[in-house]
Amino acid sequence: MAELIMIVEDEEALALLLKYNLESEGFQVKTVNRGNIAVAEIEASLPSVIILDWMLPEMSGVEICKIIRSKPDIKNIPIIMLTAKGEEEDKIRGLTAGADDYVTKPFSVPELMARVKAQLRRAPEPPAEKELKFADIRMDLTAKKVFRGENFVHLGPTEFRLLRMLMETPGKVFSREFLLKNVWGSNIYVESRTVDVHIRRLRKSLNEFGPDYIRTVRATGYSLDENAAADDIENSEENQAPK
Ligand code: CA
Repeated sequence: MAELIMIVEDEEALALLLKYNLESEGFQVKTVNRGNIAVAEIEASLPSVIILDWMLPEMSGVEICKIIRSKPDIKNIPIIMLTAKGEEEDKIRGLTAGADDYVTKPFSVPELMARVKAQLRRAPEPPAEKELKFADIRMDLTAKKVFRGENFVHLGPTEFRLLRMLMETPGKVFSREFLLKNVWGSNIYVESRTVDVHIRRLRKSLNEFGPDYIRTVRATGYSLDENAAADDIENSEENQAPK
């Protein structure tokens, strides 16, 4: 889903210009033109970045900034402060109030776009995945257990690592060489036929409780795909040695 950018700016022409440019970069955009409703809007929509004008009716950007920073649910959202021509003192006040970046008007649109993207890059990473899911297959990474629907799927450690690799990027075709290197490790000698043996074991355990989601891609490798079972021809060739 597209990242949401909130623009808090009372100059309509500028707000529209920014909205247009951000949307053409693929962002979702919300605009607010009054200070007193900005915080409620931010709490309701939890944007990824806030572009906040300094001079606003009813409540200044600096005040809004301070309120945002005092609220646990929104205090980590990056704020880019906009202000009229560069008074150094304003800049310091803005940054003290908790703004992450500061742009003085007039500014170039590409520059502001670059600043927005820079803030998105430094936004905190989401917590590490504890669970992987694909259709009815669920992998609990903490307990190292796999379930299909309500059923516990018993897998050996190699099959578990293989499935994890496939589930981390469903649809991607993994070559046997890649799987060997990343599941077995590069300094262990195993022939690529070994991958096929373990894929077969993995299929056997998983398919006890549902259709086959592991696609055999001829002469290439394997991928996770909900329509794999429909493709019986390719899957029946799983025993073929790689070229
Ligand atoms: Ca203004």
